[in-house]
Amino acid sequence: MTKTRVMFNIVRRFSGYSTEPLIFRQLFDNISSTYTYLLGCPKTRECIIIDPVLEQVKRDFQLSKDLGLKLKYAINTHMHADHVTGTGYLRVLSGCKTIISKASGAAADIYVNENDQIVFGCHSLKVFSTPGHTNGCVTYYNPNQGLVFTGDALLIRGCGRTDFQEGDPKTLYKSVHSKIFTLPGSTLVFPAHDYKGFLCSSVDEERRLNPRLTKSETEFVEIMNNLNLSYPKQIDRALPANRVCGVQDIPEDAKRDSAI
Ligand code: FE
Repeated sequence: MTKTRVMFNIVRRFSGYSTEPLIFRQLFDNISSTYTYLLGCPKTRECIIIDPVLEQVKRDFQLSKDLGLKLKYAINTHMHADHVTGTGYLRVLSGCKTIISKASGAAADIYVNENDQIVFGCHSLKVFSTPGHTNGCVTYYNPNQGLVFTGDALLIRGCGRTDFQEGDPKTLYKSVHSKIFTLPGSTLVFPAHDYKGFLCSSVDEERRLNPRLTKSETEFVEIMNNLNLSYPKQIDRALPANRVCGVQDIPEDAKRDSAI
């Protein structure tokens, strides 16, 4: 059995149910308008970070230390095209494992698939495969606290683009309607980006008010195929780096930090 396979089984084995409160922080990167999320267990002090941005890794890692938490996993919802992931750098600083879906095509220590559970202390996230923005997009659901981390599959009053990286509007429509929109309406939606200042939404809000996903599938495809969006600024830097889990050449100052 390979090392990756062993770790994968560890992720799958436990099904956490907890009445413990969740330590939760939402962080933002101004350049890429990316949200990063830190989730921690107050009992065991284990934590995870979802969608870290390379340039913000020191901030995020310091926050985990300030809160007395130990980083267990650095996780991506998909292979991002608009920023370089901070997961590889976080692994160097903290010794954590990195996680992404197998279908993403990106390197990681652990690959997750539909219905896997990611366990940190007394909390866990359930994995839903939600392709359409990219083939490897996954959504992470915390049923106990009623939170869902949708990456770019579902944004607040919007959704991720489908015009590059294996994007497909029909697939995205199906993913959102058959997976995310079937969750309880009160579930809070935390996306990977926002460009208008919103922090979070709910499944009920998006089911009723999302201007794209309240349309029929045919209308949705028409909308998505005619967005005429500009070429992402960081894509030529981000994709090659993200295929290998972010930066591999860790700056000297980062090496010093990791020794602290
Ligand atoms: Fe994306």
